[in-house]
Amino acid sequence: MSRFLKNTYAKLEAYTPGEQPKDGEYIKLNTNESPFPPAPEVTEVLEKEDIERLRLYCDPTSAELKGKLAELYGVSSENVFLSNGSDDILNFSMMAWSGKGAVFPDITYGFYPVFAELHGVEYEEIPLKEDFTVDASDYIARDKLIFIANPNAPTGIEMPLSEIERIVASNSDTVVVIDEAYVDFGGTSALPLIEKYENLLVVRTFSKSRCLAGGRLGYAFGCKALIEDLEKIKYSTNPYNINSLTAKLGCATVDADSYYTDRCKEIIKNREYTAKALETLGFTVLKSKSNFIFAKSDKISGEDLYLKLKKRKILVRHFSKERIRDFNRITIGTKAEMDALLENTEEILKEI
Ligand SMILES: *Cc1c(COP(=O)(O)O)cnc(C)c1O
Repeated sequence: MSRFLKNTYAKLEAYTPGEQPKDGEYIKLNTNESPFPPAPEVTEVLEKEDIERLRLYCDPTSAELKGKLAELYGVSSENVFLSNGSDDILNFSMMAWSGKGAVFPDITYGFYPVFAELHGVEYEEIPLKEDFTVDASDYIARDKLIFIANPNAPTGIEMPLSEIERIVASNSDTVVVIDEAYVDFGGTSALPLIEKYENLLVVRTFSKSRCLAGGRLGYAFGCKALIEDLEKIKYSTNPYNINSLTAKLGCATVDADSYYTDRCKEIIKNREYTAKALETLGFTVLKSKSNFIFAKSDKISGEDLYLKLKKRKILVRHFSKERIRDFNRITIGTKAEMDALLENTEEILKEI
């Protein structure tokens, strides 16, 4: 850190992304990426002219992609916001609507407190219940900006839509952001509620269910006025936030939607298979509606299992936070990858 850094940032603890080893020899089950390549139509869509056209600025409105998403989800283009990964939308939300402070669970996506700190927002972290579910009654009439990841990360647990609606309805003077990064893996979306509630923003991403984490593409749905707020911040920071290559890949991705729906079904199948097999090995596995499971064993500490798997070239994600240090978050990959995880886990348990 230089002596020139503003005081406001000196104490900021930045977000730590999951490990991204360069050597490619790991089975990567640590950052919730898809184990599948993008659809063939997406893999082949970029042409030489697309590279040549990089000399021009891209369309700052990303009108084509917005139109395609609007059509797929049955909303109007004015209800759609696009960004460079959904992290940007969460950041913009914190900038836009945190005037009265923010609240979110103590165990959830690690970026919410980072964005709050970044913008000097007062925030409260509300403990999850003993069973790691979010207690909706903690969020009733809070009159603060609320972030809820649904399904939640890293637990994978989903909150029923009726409870989400209760929270949104009771906070009519502040915005409720529902982060649906994992909704495509069997969750129920709050999207239909955006017509009824002007304080609801639903945030999604191409990173998990659409095999495009490196393309950096996030989107959100909300009423026209909320989207206008986000556009205002976007045009005040980086109008060209979706590069033209990613926009084209995004359009091809939306066109190939059924490919992705099928891949999600495969992930769900592998998830249930893995959860059951881990339970047979004595693990406690939280009920997941996402592309990862959160599991712990009485026989080995979370950190020890993480390290032993890493030695065997399998990466999972371990968090050192007190309440969840016994657990590991395991991304669901292909059947073969899950079998490798299970075999190695069984061997590790036998060794101790
Ligand atoms: C992965 C993730 C995101 C953000 O992903 P982007 O790659 O920035 O779109 C947002 N929220 C949660 C809960 C996530 O796990």
